Amino acid sequence: MQVPAQFQYEKATSVEHALSLLSRYGPESRLVAGGHSLIPMMKLRLAQPQALIDINDLAELATIGIQENTLTIGAMVRHADLLASAVAGEHFPIFHDAERLIADPVVRNRGTVGGSLCQADPSEDLSAVFTALRGEAVIQGADGQRVVPVREFFTGPYETVVGDDEILVALRVPIRSSASAYQKVERRAGDWAVAAAGAELRLDGDQVAEAGIGLTAVGARGFHAPEAEEFLVGGPATDERFERAGAIAAEHCEPVADQRGPAGYKRHLAATLTTRALRQARQRWRGQHGTDAGTEG
Ligand SMILES: Cc1cc2nc3c(=O)[nH]c(=O)nc-3n(C[C@H](O)[C@H](O)[C@H](O)COP(=O)(O)OP(=O)(O)OC[C@H]3O[C@@H](n4cnc5c(N)ncnc54)[C@H](O)[C@@H]3O)c2cc1C
Repeated sequence: MQVPAQFQYEKATSVEHALSLLSRYGPESRLVAGGHSLIPMMKLRLAQPQALIDINDLAELATIGIQENTLTIGAMVRHADLLASAVAGEHFPIFHDAERLIADPVVRNRGTVGGSLCQADPSEDLSAVFTALRGEAVIQGADGQRVVPVREFFTGPYETVVGDDEILVALRVPIRSSASAYQKVERRAGDWAVAAAGAELRLDGDQVAEAGIGLTAVGARGFHAPEAEEFLVGGPATDERFERAGAIAAEHCEPVADQRGPAGYKRHLAATLTTRALRQARQRWRGQHGTDAGTEG
């Protein structure tokens, strides 16, 4: 049986306490949230922190709410809580689309939104979701809070802008008139994505007024497809344009072959899933605005 190397264990009682523990133990310490990524890495000795700072008691980081017309999701919100959140699903159904396909109930009951983004696994679903939604990350350090657009949050695979002495405290998404959707292909229920795409749309009549596209598991830089977004905005929201946007998104990906599939297949999925997510978002927009009674997808 694999066991982690020896480490100190500390339980933080507040964000300030967690920050002081990070400062006391230095860069060899790590926060532990759900532990679903960090603990397996420690067992494999891919991570060997000298101190683990447990932030599971920080109830102030575990809430979902609306403040000043902005949806705020605490970093310690569990996947299961986001899946169950009516307020998040009402404004951004993309959260429910993605969450119901993340892992299984055991992982969803424990794994957190903040841990998922900070892990920055290139196949992580919520990273693509918050990228599509143009979310913001609220990061706290000894000198206070700073806000970073999620599109600038990831600096590489498994790397983010969060410093060794900082804590991601929340994700925020301004509430606006839009429709969103997430499409994922997995080899079997509960698996990581072979590929997935999220889309957010605001239409003005038949024209695309705003578009957000996030991709995961296909080597999209920062989980983002800016070229496809640019192509869409200002043009008609037609199937042909959505297919072209999917092709543009796929052209700018750099998928790598692995046990989930060859690179060419993943690129194909990037195009197809982007197109499908855009169609589903358009369907939802029209449903909200009473211009279409058809089925989704
Ligand atoms: C079997 C299995 C299947 C999975 N399938 C999927 C899937 O299909 N899709 C998907 O997206 N994910 C999947 N996951 C990952 C899951 O979503 C994890 O919950 C997530 O990767 C990590 O969240 P965590 O709360 O467990 O973080 P932890 O493991 O506790 O931490 C991960 C990293 O983030 C850091 N960290 C945690 N919280 C903070 C914070 N607030 N501020 C700063 N740093 C922080 C930690 O120090 C650590 O480096 C799967 C995991 C497992 C075990």
